[in-house]
Amino acid sequence: MGVYLHIPVSGYNVHMLKDTLEGLNDDQINAVTSTEGYVRVIAGAGSGKTRALTHRFAYLVNELGIRPGNILCVTFTNKAAAEMKSRIHELTDDNDTGYICTFHSFCVTVLQEDSHAVSYPKSFMVLDNSDIDDMLSIIYEERGLTLRDMTYAHARDMFEIRKGVTEQNYYMNLIQMSLDDLHQKYMEAENVNDILFYGYLYQEKKCFGLDYNDLIFLTLYIFRKNPEIRLKWQKRLEYIMIDEFQDIDEPQYELMENLCGYHNNLFIVGDPDQTIYTWRGAQPGFLIDFDRKFPHVKTIMMMKNYRSSPQILSAANSLIDCNHDRIQKELIPMLSAERKPVFYSGKSSKKEAEWIAREIERIIEDGTMPGDIAVLYRAHYLTRPIEEVFLHEKLPYRIYSGIQFYERKEIKDAAAYLRMIAYKDDLSFMRTVNTPKRNIGQRRMRFLKEYAEKQKCTLYEAMQANVHTELFNGTGAEKYIAMIEGFASHMNERPVSEILSAVLDVSGYEKMLRTEGNQERLDDLAELKQAVYEWETSVGEETDLLSYLKHMTFFTSLDTPDAKDRVKLMTIHSAKGLEFPYVFLCGMNEGIFPSGKVKTEPGMEEERRLCFVAMTRAEKELYFSNAEGRNASDTSRHLSRFLLDIDSSLLEFTEPLKEERVKKAKEYIIQLNSRFLPDPDKLGFQEGDRVRHRVFGPGTVKKIDMDEEAVFVKFDTMNTPRAISIRAAGKLEKIERS
Ligand code: ATP
Ligand code: MG
Repeated sequence: MGVYLHIPVSGYNVHMLKDTLEGLNDDQINAVTSTEGYVRVIAGAGSGKTRALTHRFAYLVNELGIRPGNILCVTFTNKAAAEMKSRIHELTDDNDTGYICTFHSFCVTVLQEDSHAVSYPKSFMVLDNSDIDDMLSIIYEERGLTLRDMTYAHARDMFEIRKGVTEQNYYMNLIQMSLDDLHQKYMEAENVNDILFYGYLYQEKKCFGLDYNDLIFLTLYIFRKNPEIRLKWQKRLEYIMIDEFQDIDEPQYELMENLCGYHNNLFIVGDPDQTIYTWRGAQPGFLIDFDRKFPHVKTIMMMKNYRSSPQILSAANSLIDCNHDRIQKELIPMLSAERKPVFYSGKSSKKEAEWIAREIERIIEDGTMPGDIAVLYRAHYLTRPIEEVFLHEKLPYRIYSGIQFYERKEIKDAAAYLRMIAYKDDLSFMRTVNTPKRNIGQRRMRFLKEYAEKQKCTLYEAMQANVHTELFNGTGAEKYIAMIEGFASHMNERPVSEILSAVLDVSGYEKMLRTEGNQERLDDLAELKQAVYEWETSVGEETDLLSYLKHMTFFTSLDTPDAKDRVKLMTIHSAKGLEFPYVFLCGMNEGIFPSGKVKTEPGMEEERRLCFVAMTRAEKELYFSNAEGRNASDTSRHLSRFLLDIDSSLLEFTEPLKEERVKKAKEYIIQLNSRFLPDPDKLGFQEGDRVRHRVFGPGTVKKIDMDEEAVFVKFDTMNTPRAISIRAAGKLEKIERS
């Protein structure tokens, strides 16, 4: 039963107004109270953009009486959305927090309400990469394709390009064609691209599945074709606010334009220095040119930084100053002085990890909660040495973006191969015998199990006994046995690192990952090799396979202690927008961070922005670490250029940097830079353009592939496209279409 409380209106307002605007500076109050029209905030890291956005939501609800359900608040990740919801809940004391979500999940909401407009049921399924891979495996099987025709990763990229760029009305296949017609189109397709693409669309339609592209494009389509539905959403969303606007891409931008078209109340915040997703289509130009696209834009700058100590801020500014393509801005620190960012060089990545653990233990002993400490890194594989030490030290940790190193599939598979060589046990057998595929499926496995049970032997022995029977004709059983026997007979004479590399090669396991295009898993395997190599060089004696397997069980059987409060481990990309009192940034070596995959100058600038994002997550203290020595591939480890970018007077060195090391790093960096590829945006032509080659004559650019370092051109005089080296792209000249 409701209770009616009589509250004097004026008193109520004064109280609420104070709460909502409390703890905001003048610029933030300006942003919060400028509720009407187009408002843009451009400001640096930690200047309180997200805070202003959160308070603005509360202000709209508490002060202006806007219903939360009439506000759309777009964040970049689901994690950020959850955090913002809880803050807004605190400020408004209202369980209804409206639409606080990512663009993709907002589209899910629209489609759940209005997918009837495209004859999709409410209960459609949102597909992730593993769902797409499952569909691909059906298509490959049905149409007799193999990974040699195309890897899964390439197929997914191809879908992305066709859906997002070259065939933007692809969804008509999903919407307008009957399932039978689509099936026919798929069966009639002849080239690999079309077979996969239409096969995939058919699979999607069959289970009412939608991938991330479909969510946005179907929503856009519904709005385009159904003005009444668009108007309904436009009217409903009286106020729209978007965080991290520097990383918005074109379809999302179009969606936003559609949504704000009725009330014209749009509030965006961003920092061009934190653009880290151009590789996925983000266009920071949308933020920069916002005032030219919309009428009467009010721009608010915020110059004060409330997050980081002055020392952290100076170091971060010193780094980002090295980018040429940027608009200069300085932040004024609001917090008091702390320690300078600390710089440590370990003799190996194990030493580096041990130092991180020691420092963290000290910080915790001084009274900090483990959850206030974050270890950030460029790529997942870097967690390996850190986890090993943390497990050993019983330091509680949690990985926020991915799975623990020794739990990852590829690591378990590799370990199973090693165990198979040493023990030939059933578990390792089952894990390895048909990975990669050796045509030993369920039927043959069933036979082996029955045989082994009867004969009281292992599955492997069962296969040895039957390998020459008809059942194993046409399988890889014989080769598999020969491989295991070959390795087992010399296992005590060869170093484990050599056995591991060889078995991953001979078994075809690594090749399988390569054809799948699974770089992250390959990186993890490379890291495992590095781990074995470091273990061999550190233990000195007893470096045989059995000793290694014993050593390895330590990491696989030990769980992190069951603590609620844990040190946070995550990639820098997933730390976007977050903050932590203590931040450790590890793996500061060339080839790791910046990543060895960077091939262009703009790519390097994006990498530097990523480092800037990482540094500006830190509130009180920031620690950089890197390792010396050599990689398992026998290349030397050089200092990251980012550490050299920062004015050295702004850092605290745990011991003086060796001049020789700095000199070597600089030489190495100059050499790397000289191999940069030309900027794809400055080639003078794009995909689809007509170009002329001095010898081959006119043709059409089919694809610019930075990974392959090639421009694929279909010349008019030839039947198949030619790959022209991207370094020789100057030989291609754009010609206008006649
Ligand atoms: P990023 O660019 O990293 O997303 P941001 O600009 O969104 O940063 P916020 O996360 O909103 O910054 O704020 C950074 C920190 O500063 C937060 O801890 C926030 O609570 C605090 N803060 C923001 N504004 C103020 C203020 N006016 N007074 C005190 N603290 C503030
Ligand atoms: Mg923010």
